[in-house]
Amino acid sequence: MEHLLSVSLGELILKGGNRKYFEDKLIKSMRRAMADIGFEKIYKGQGKIYIEANKNDFPALIKRLEKVFGIVYISPCIKAEKDYESIKEAAKLLVEEHGYDEDDWTFKVVSKRGDKSFPMTSPEISKELGGYLLSQFPNAKVDLHNPEQIIYVDVKANSYVYSERYHARGGMPVGTNGSGLLLLSGGIDSPVAGYLMAKRGIVLNAVHYHSYPFTSERAEQKVIDLAKIVSRYTGPMKIHSVNILDIQKEINEKCDERMMTIISRKFMMRIAEKIAKMNNYDALITGENLGQVASQTIDALKVTNDTTDMLVFRPLIGMDKSDIIEIANDIETFETSIKPFEDCCTVFLPKSPLLNPKIEDINKAEEVLDIEALVDDAISKMNIIKID
Ligand code: ATP
Ligand code: MG
Repeated sequence: MEHLLSVSLGELILKGGNRKYFEDKLIKSMRRAMADIGFEKIYKGQGKIYIEANKNDFPALIKRLEKVFGIVYISPCIKAEKDYESIKEAAKLLVEEHGYDEDDWTFKVVSKRGDKSFPMTSPEISKELGGYLLSQFPNAKVDLHNPEQIIYVDVKANSYVYSERYHARGGMPVGTNGSGLLLLSGGIDSPVAGYLMAKRGIVLNAVHYHSYPFTSERAEQKVIDLAKIVSRYTGPMKIHSVNILDIQKEINEKCDERMMTIISRKFMMRIAEKIAKMNNYDALITGENLGQVASQTIDALKVTNDTTDMLVFRPLIGMDKSDIIEIANDIETFETSIKPFEDCCTVFLPKSPLLNPKIEDINKAEEVLDIEALVDDAISKMNIIKID
């Protein structure tokens, strides 16, 4: 008898013909998540994915797999032969290993017969096995409604017996729904936005804008740290690090001070669009949130939105800050996000930004700038940082 991890998949079950494609993407993410811990084998089997590994590594592997999108839960299980005697043996071993019988305990058996040629029906397996366990363990009682332990039995090409389910995050395997370029600041919102879109299957890469030497190297390091945390869920990532100081100086010199923020924001969108098109990314992703700050009033959003014809995802648009912070805490970006390093946007912060900018006014104001040259120049000097 062998100890394995069995992994249950989420929405990809619904995808019919695409199933193999989804499973292969998922296995790729799982391999990456487990790489440095190590495992022996990973394979598909009738709706689940199984991992052979050193049993002592199970807790560490489960921790990693809990972060892989497309997984609903993970169970350490005992693999037995496809016959009732082996199932009994496996169930007994399971109870012994968990020490369930050290005190009074209640249980029920839940069986699923995937292989209809197996001579017992699911209710028969549950009933017989329940009786057997009662006969072996003096402290055990059956409770069908509110048991402390559920002993699961899956009968397929082999039998699998388990009692624990570690819940993962669901979502869809990264790489099954195109690719996106995340505008990643050092703030709370954008890492959460990237996480949420990757959870829907998008491959994530990032662009970060800084104003070095007005902003520090430590501010840049903070963004790399954030990207590393996000990449635990989303996979390898490229960060395009773009200095926009020259652009900000140019705007500062030639445009109405109150338009500084909104025009900078338009440049961020333009540069992002260009990088996305160079790399064939499908969409842009921002952490924008309606009404949060001056640059995110409905009029300001209209202006930024008008800057690009690309698909722009703003997954946080309707969320409350407290809900965003809850996710940031959950994915462990919050502590890094609140470290107090300067952001490029604050370098030339106007005293009173325009709250209701109009598209035509901003476009007119920008006419004094050589937009294309500024964009191209910034991109030609960008730095690419790879996170594996
Ligand atoms: P965040 O917490 O993500 O920084 P925010 O609440 O500070 O967001 P803004 O500063 O208005 O809001 O930025 C809105 C969005 O614009 C960000 O979520 C991010 O997607 C993008 N953005 C802002 N600053 C930068 C930057 N320096 N580099 C890359 N993207 C940025
Ligand atoms: Mg910000």
